[in-house]
Amino acid sequence: MRDRKRVTVRDLRRDNRAAVLWELYLSQQATRQDLSAITGLSAASVTSVIRDLIDEGVVIETGLAEPDGGRPRVHLGMNPDYGYVIGVDVGETRTRVELFDLTMAERAKAEYPLDAYQHDVDVVVEQIVSGFDAVLAGSGVSPDAVLGVGIGVPGIIEQAPEVLVHGQTYGWDAVPLGRLLRARRMPDPGWPLHFDNGAKTMGQAELWFGAGRGTRNAAVILIGSGVGLSLISGGTTYRGATSSGAEFGHITIVTGGRTCRCGSAGCLEAYAGAEAILERYGRPMAAADQEAALAELIEEAGTSPFAATILEETSRYLGAGIGSLINLFNPERVIVGGWAGLMLSGPLLPAIKEAARQHSLRHPFSATSIELGELGPWAVALGAATLPMESFLNGAAGRASAVSTALPSPVRYPSLP
Ligand SMILES: [Zn+2]
Repeated sequence: MRDRKRVTVRDLRRDNRAAVLWELYLSQQATRQDLSAITGLSAASVTSVIRDLIDEGVVIETGLAEPDGGRPRVHLGMNPDYGYVIGVDVGETRTRVELFDLTMAERAKAEYPLDAYQHDVDVVVEQIVSGFDAVLAGSGVSPDAVLGVGIGVPGIIEQAPEVLVHGQTYGWDAVPLGRLLRARRMPDPGWPLHFDNGAKTMGQAELWFGAGRGTRNAAVILIGSGVGLSLISGGTTYRGATSSGAEFGHITIVTGGRTCRCGSAGCLEAYAGAEAILERYGRPMAAADQEAALAELIEEAGTSPFAATILEETSRYLGAGIGSLINLFNPERVIVGGWAGLMLSGPLLPAIKEAARQHSLRHPFSATSIELGELGPWAVALGAATLPMESFLNGAAGRASAVSTALPSPVRYPSLP
């Protein structure tokens, strides 16, 4: 009985600690009084937890707040240099590795171009490992100060018994990415590695820090070469039975339509992904890569009626897809991101909204807003870096003590600002 009681008290302390840390992390700055009000913990509990966190160096005092007529209150924040997290975006057109401090400020990044039509596993693995070395060198951070690594990958991630990436449209079939990385000379072989679908990591980043803040039901669309989605339901990412939930790019938009990279026909991605848009345009472009080619097409639409028609059709396909999302999931917010999504939304957002209105029921459409992502075209890496942060905030082991691959855990304390 005494043992059980001791465990319970320890659990309670860990839960209190997680609650305080989550609030401090998401709000970036708060007073003890703020933390008590938001978490519902007593002032004494918050003071005790904060004392421990300051002693450990996780939290620091960042300044004084002076409420009108009241006593000055101390602002608290995460200690940026307590530890660091690395986020990796394995994309269609580039691999990006970024190192962040505990306030999610980017300290260094490395980027490597990829042929959008060829994603050799060895090349990508080499780029990731080179990126680790580059961001450590660029930031001066030592490997043992890294809390963990998150990697966002196109495709479906099978987490157990070992991580396998099923990237049907990426050309990867059951790729054991974790094992391949560990077989290389990683800066620290003990770094916990976390994997998730890139669109889902971007969705988490927008939810925590970007256009999704304050909502618990959102659809975050990633448009790059292809089309992905993160569906946030009740504050957590919807995954489905085997984690492939929300493969929005492969809903059928035209029966018997264009052949999709997945092998099916008429998928949304076969019309609205950058690769498909350029194929539908079908004219020679001066630009060497997909990103520059799409920019060129958008510019040509100013003078070329055919280019303008391709974009107009694209907005209708995307709007129809978004209309279906609204009918099926009743999101409070639809957020459009990804490099191609942000590029297209500049000229097309009004037309996309109009098409979505036409293709959805009035009531759920009136309850949603369609907005642009706020974190820029490469938010997958930031989102990937939130995966090791989740473990850290939930009280998992600190620096580099877990060798096993961590499962993405639901956010235990999803109280969003
Ligand atoms: Zn498809």
